Amino acid sequence: MKTAIITGISGQDGPYLARLLVEKNYRVIGTVRSYRSSNVKSLEYLKIAEKVVLEELDLLDITNVIRLLMKYKPDEVYNLAAQSSVGLSFSQPIGTFSFNTASVNNLLETIRLLSPMTKLYQASSSEMFGCVKKLPITLDAPMHPVSPYAVSKVAAHFMVMNYREAYGLFVCNGILFNHESFLRSGNFFVKKIILEALKIKRGEKDCVFVGNLDLKRDFGYAPRYVEAMWMMMQLEKPEDFIVCSGKSICLRDIVYYVFDKLKLDNKLIVVDDKLCRPNEVYDIVGDNSKARLHLDWYYDDSFFDILDILIHEELQAQGA
Ligand code: NAP
Repeated sequence: MKTAIITGISGQDGPYLARLLVEKNYRVIGTVRSYRSSNVKSLEYLKIAEKVVLEELDLLDITNVIRLLMKYKPDEVYNLAAQSSVGLSFSQPIGTFSFNTASVNNLLETIRLLSPMTKLYQASSSEMFGCVKKLPITLDAPMHPVSPYAVSKVAAHFMVMNYREAYGLFVCNGILFNHESFLRSGNFFVKKIILEALKIKRGEKDCVFVGNLDLKRDFGYAPRYVEAMWMMMQLEKPEDFIVCSGKSICLRDIVYYVFDKLKLDNKLIVVDDKLCRPNEVYDIVGDNSKARLHLDWYYDDSFFDILDILIHEELQAQGA
């Protein structure tokens, strides 16, 4: 039986990945920053709470990381923990950069010095490419990050590459584009729109405030994207991959679709300039051909179908 550690198990991706690994008969250890404050209801929601061992871990303290890896001697570590909000990274740039880089360095050093057979997956992000000149984005596209979050992910990404090249470790980056699910936290665009639209429907709110709706993003479905994470870790040799849908969709179309589905008037969508970011990228769409070819990972879901699933799941969870 293989053992895997997933950091950031309380986030969106961690529980879906844990479910996949449980199905594949792994022993799964999920890390939280604190037993008291971390929300792991998602594991219950996916009916795997009993199958995942929870461990407290301060990723900024290398002795904690060493202890955990020595205790479990994992075959695979999936590093999903990060301050992952682009918006928040503008108000917390130092905290975001410090955590998102030092945590990865601590994992890399621990693996290099004490557990070189442990494989590491690092959660890189499409945000790293930032202001791109050419679409779709390919692995060799130049990186021009435009937020503290993106800068932190670039630094971590290159540290992973550096450890792979310098020490021959099995460490790899999955460059994932936006992916959504019921477990997404409410401060991210798609989940926020669905939650607020439902509040309007119930008469608890008058309108929804949005930022720049002209932006286009490459959106996908989290439960499918975690499959690619696992597939990357099963290769003979470590490599980086872009994981995306290969199609971009305008944010306006998403909001209009949700409002239409819930039979709400589009006049209740109000643009608030304060929600526009200082440095925004207008269109992001990726090229997933390497993942299709080398991982045999195929993705052809329409994001409108995903929206149907998300709205349905939200209505069910709210007992509506
Ligand atoms: P998420 O829902 O924001 O979860 C992030 C996880 O990191 C949570 O478990 C959170 O713990 C933990 N975390 C945050 N700050 C921490 C800190 N200072 N110390 C310890 N733990 C901390 O993110 P996600 O959507 O699952 O994404 C997983 C990874 O993929 C992240 O690294 C993200 O940056 C990256 N990524 C995500 C997307 C996407 O569209 N979802 C796209 C590209 C890359 P708490 O619950 O305690 O806050």
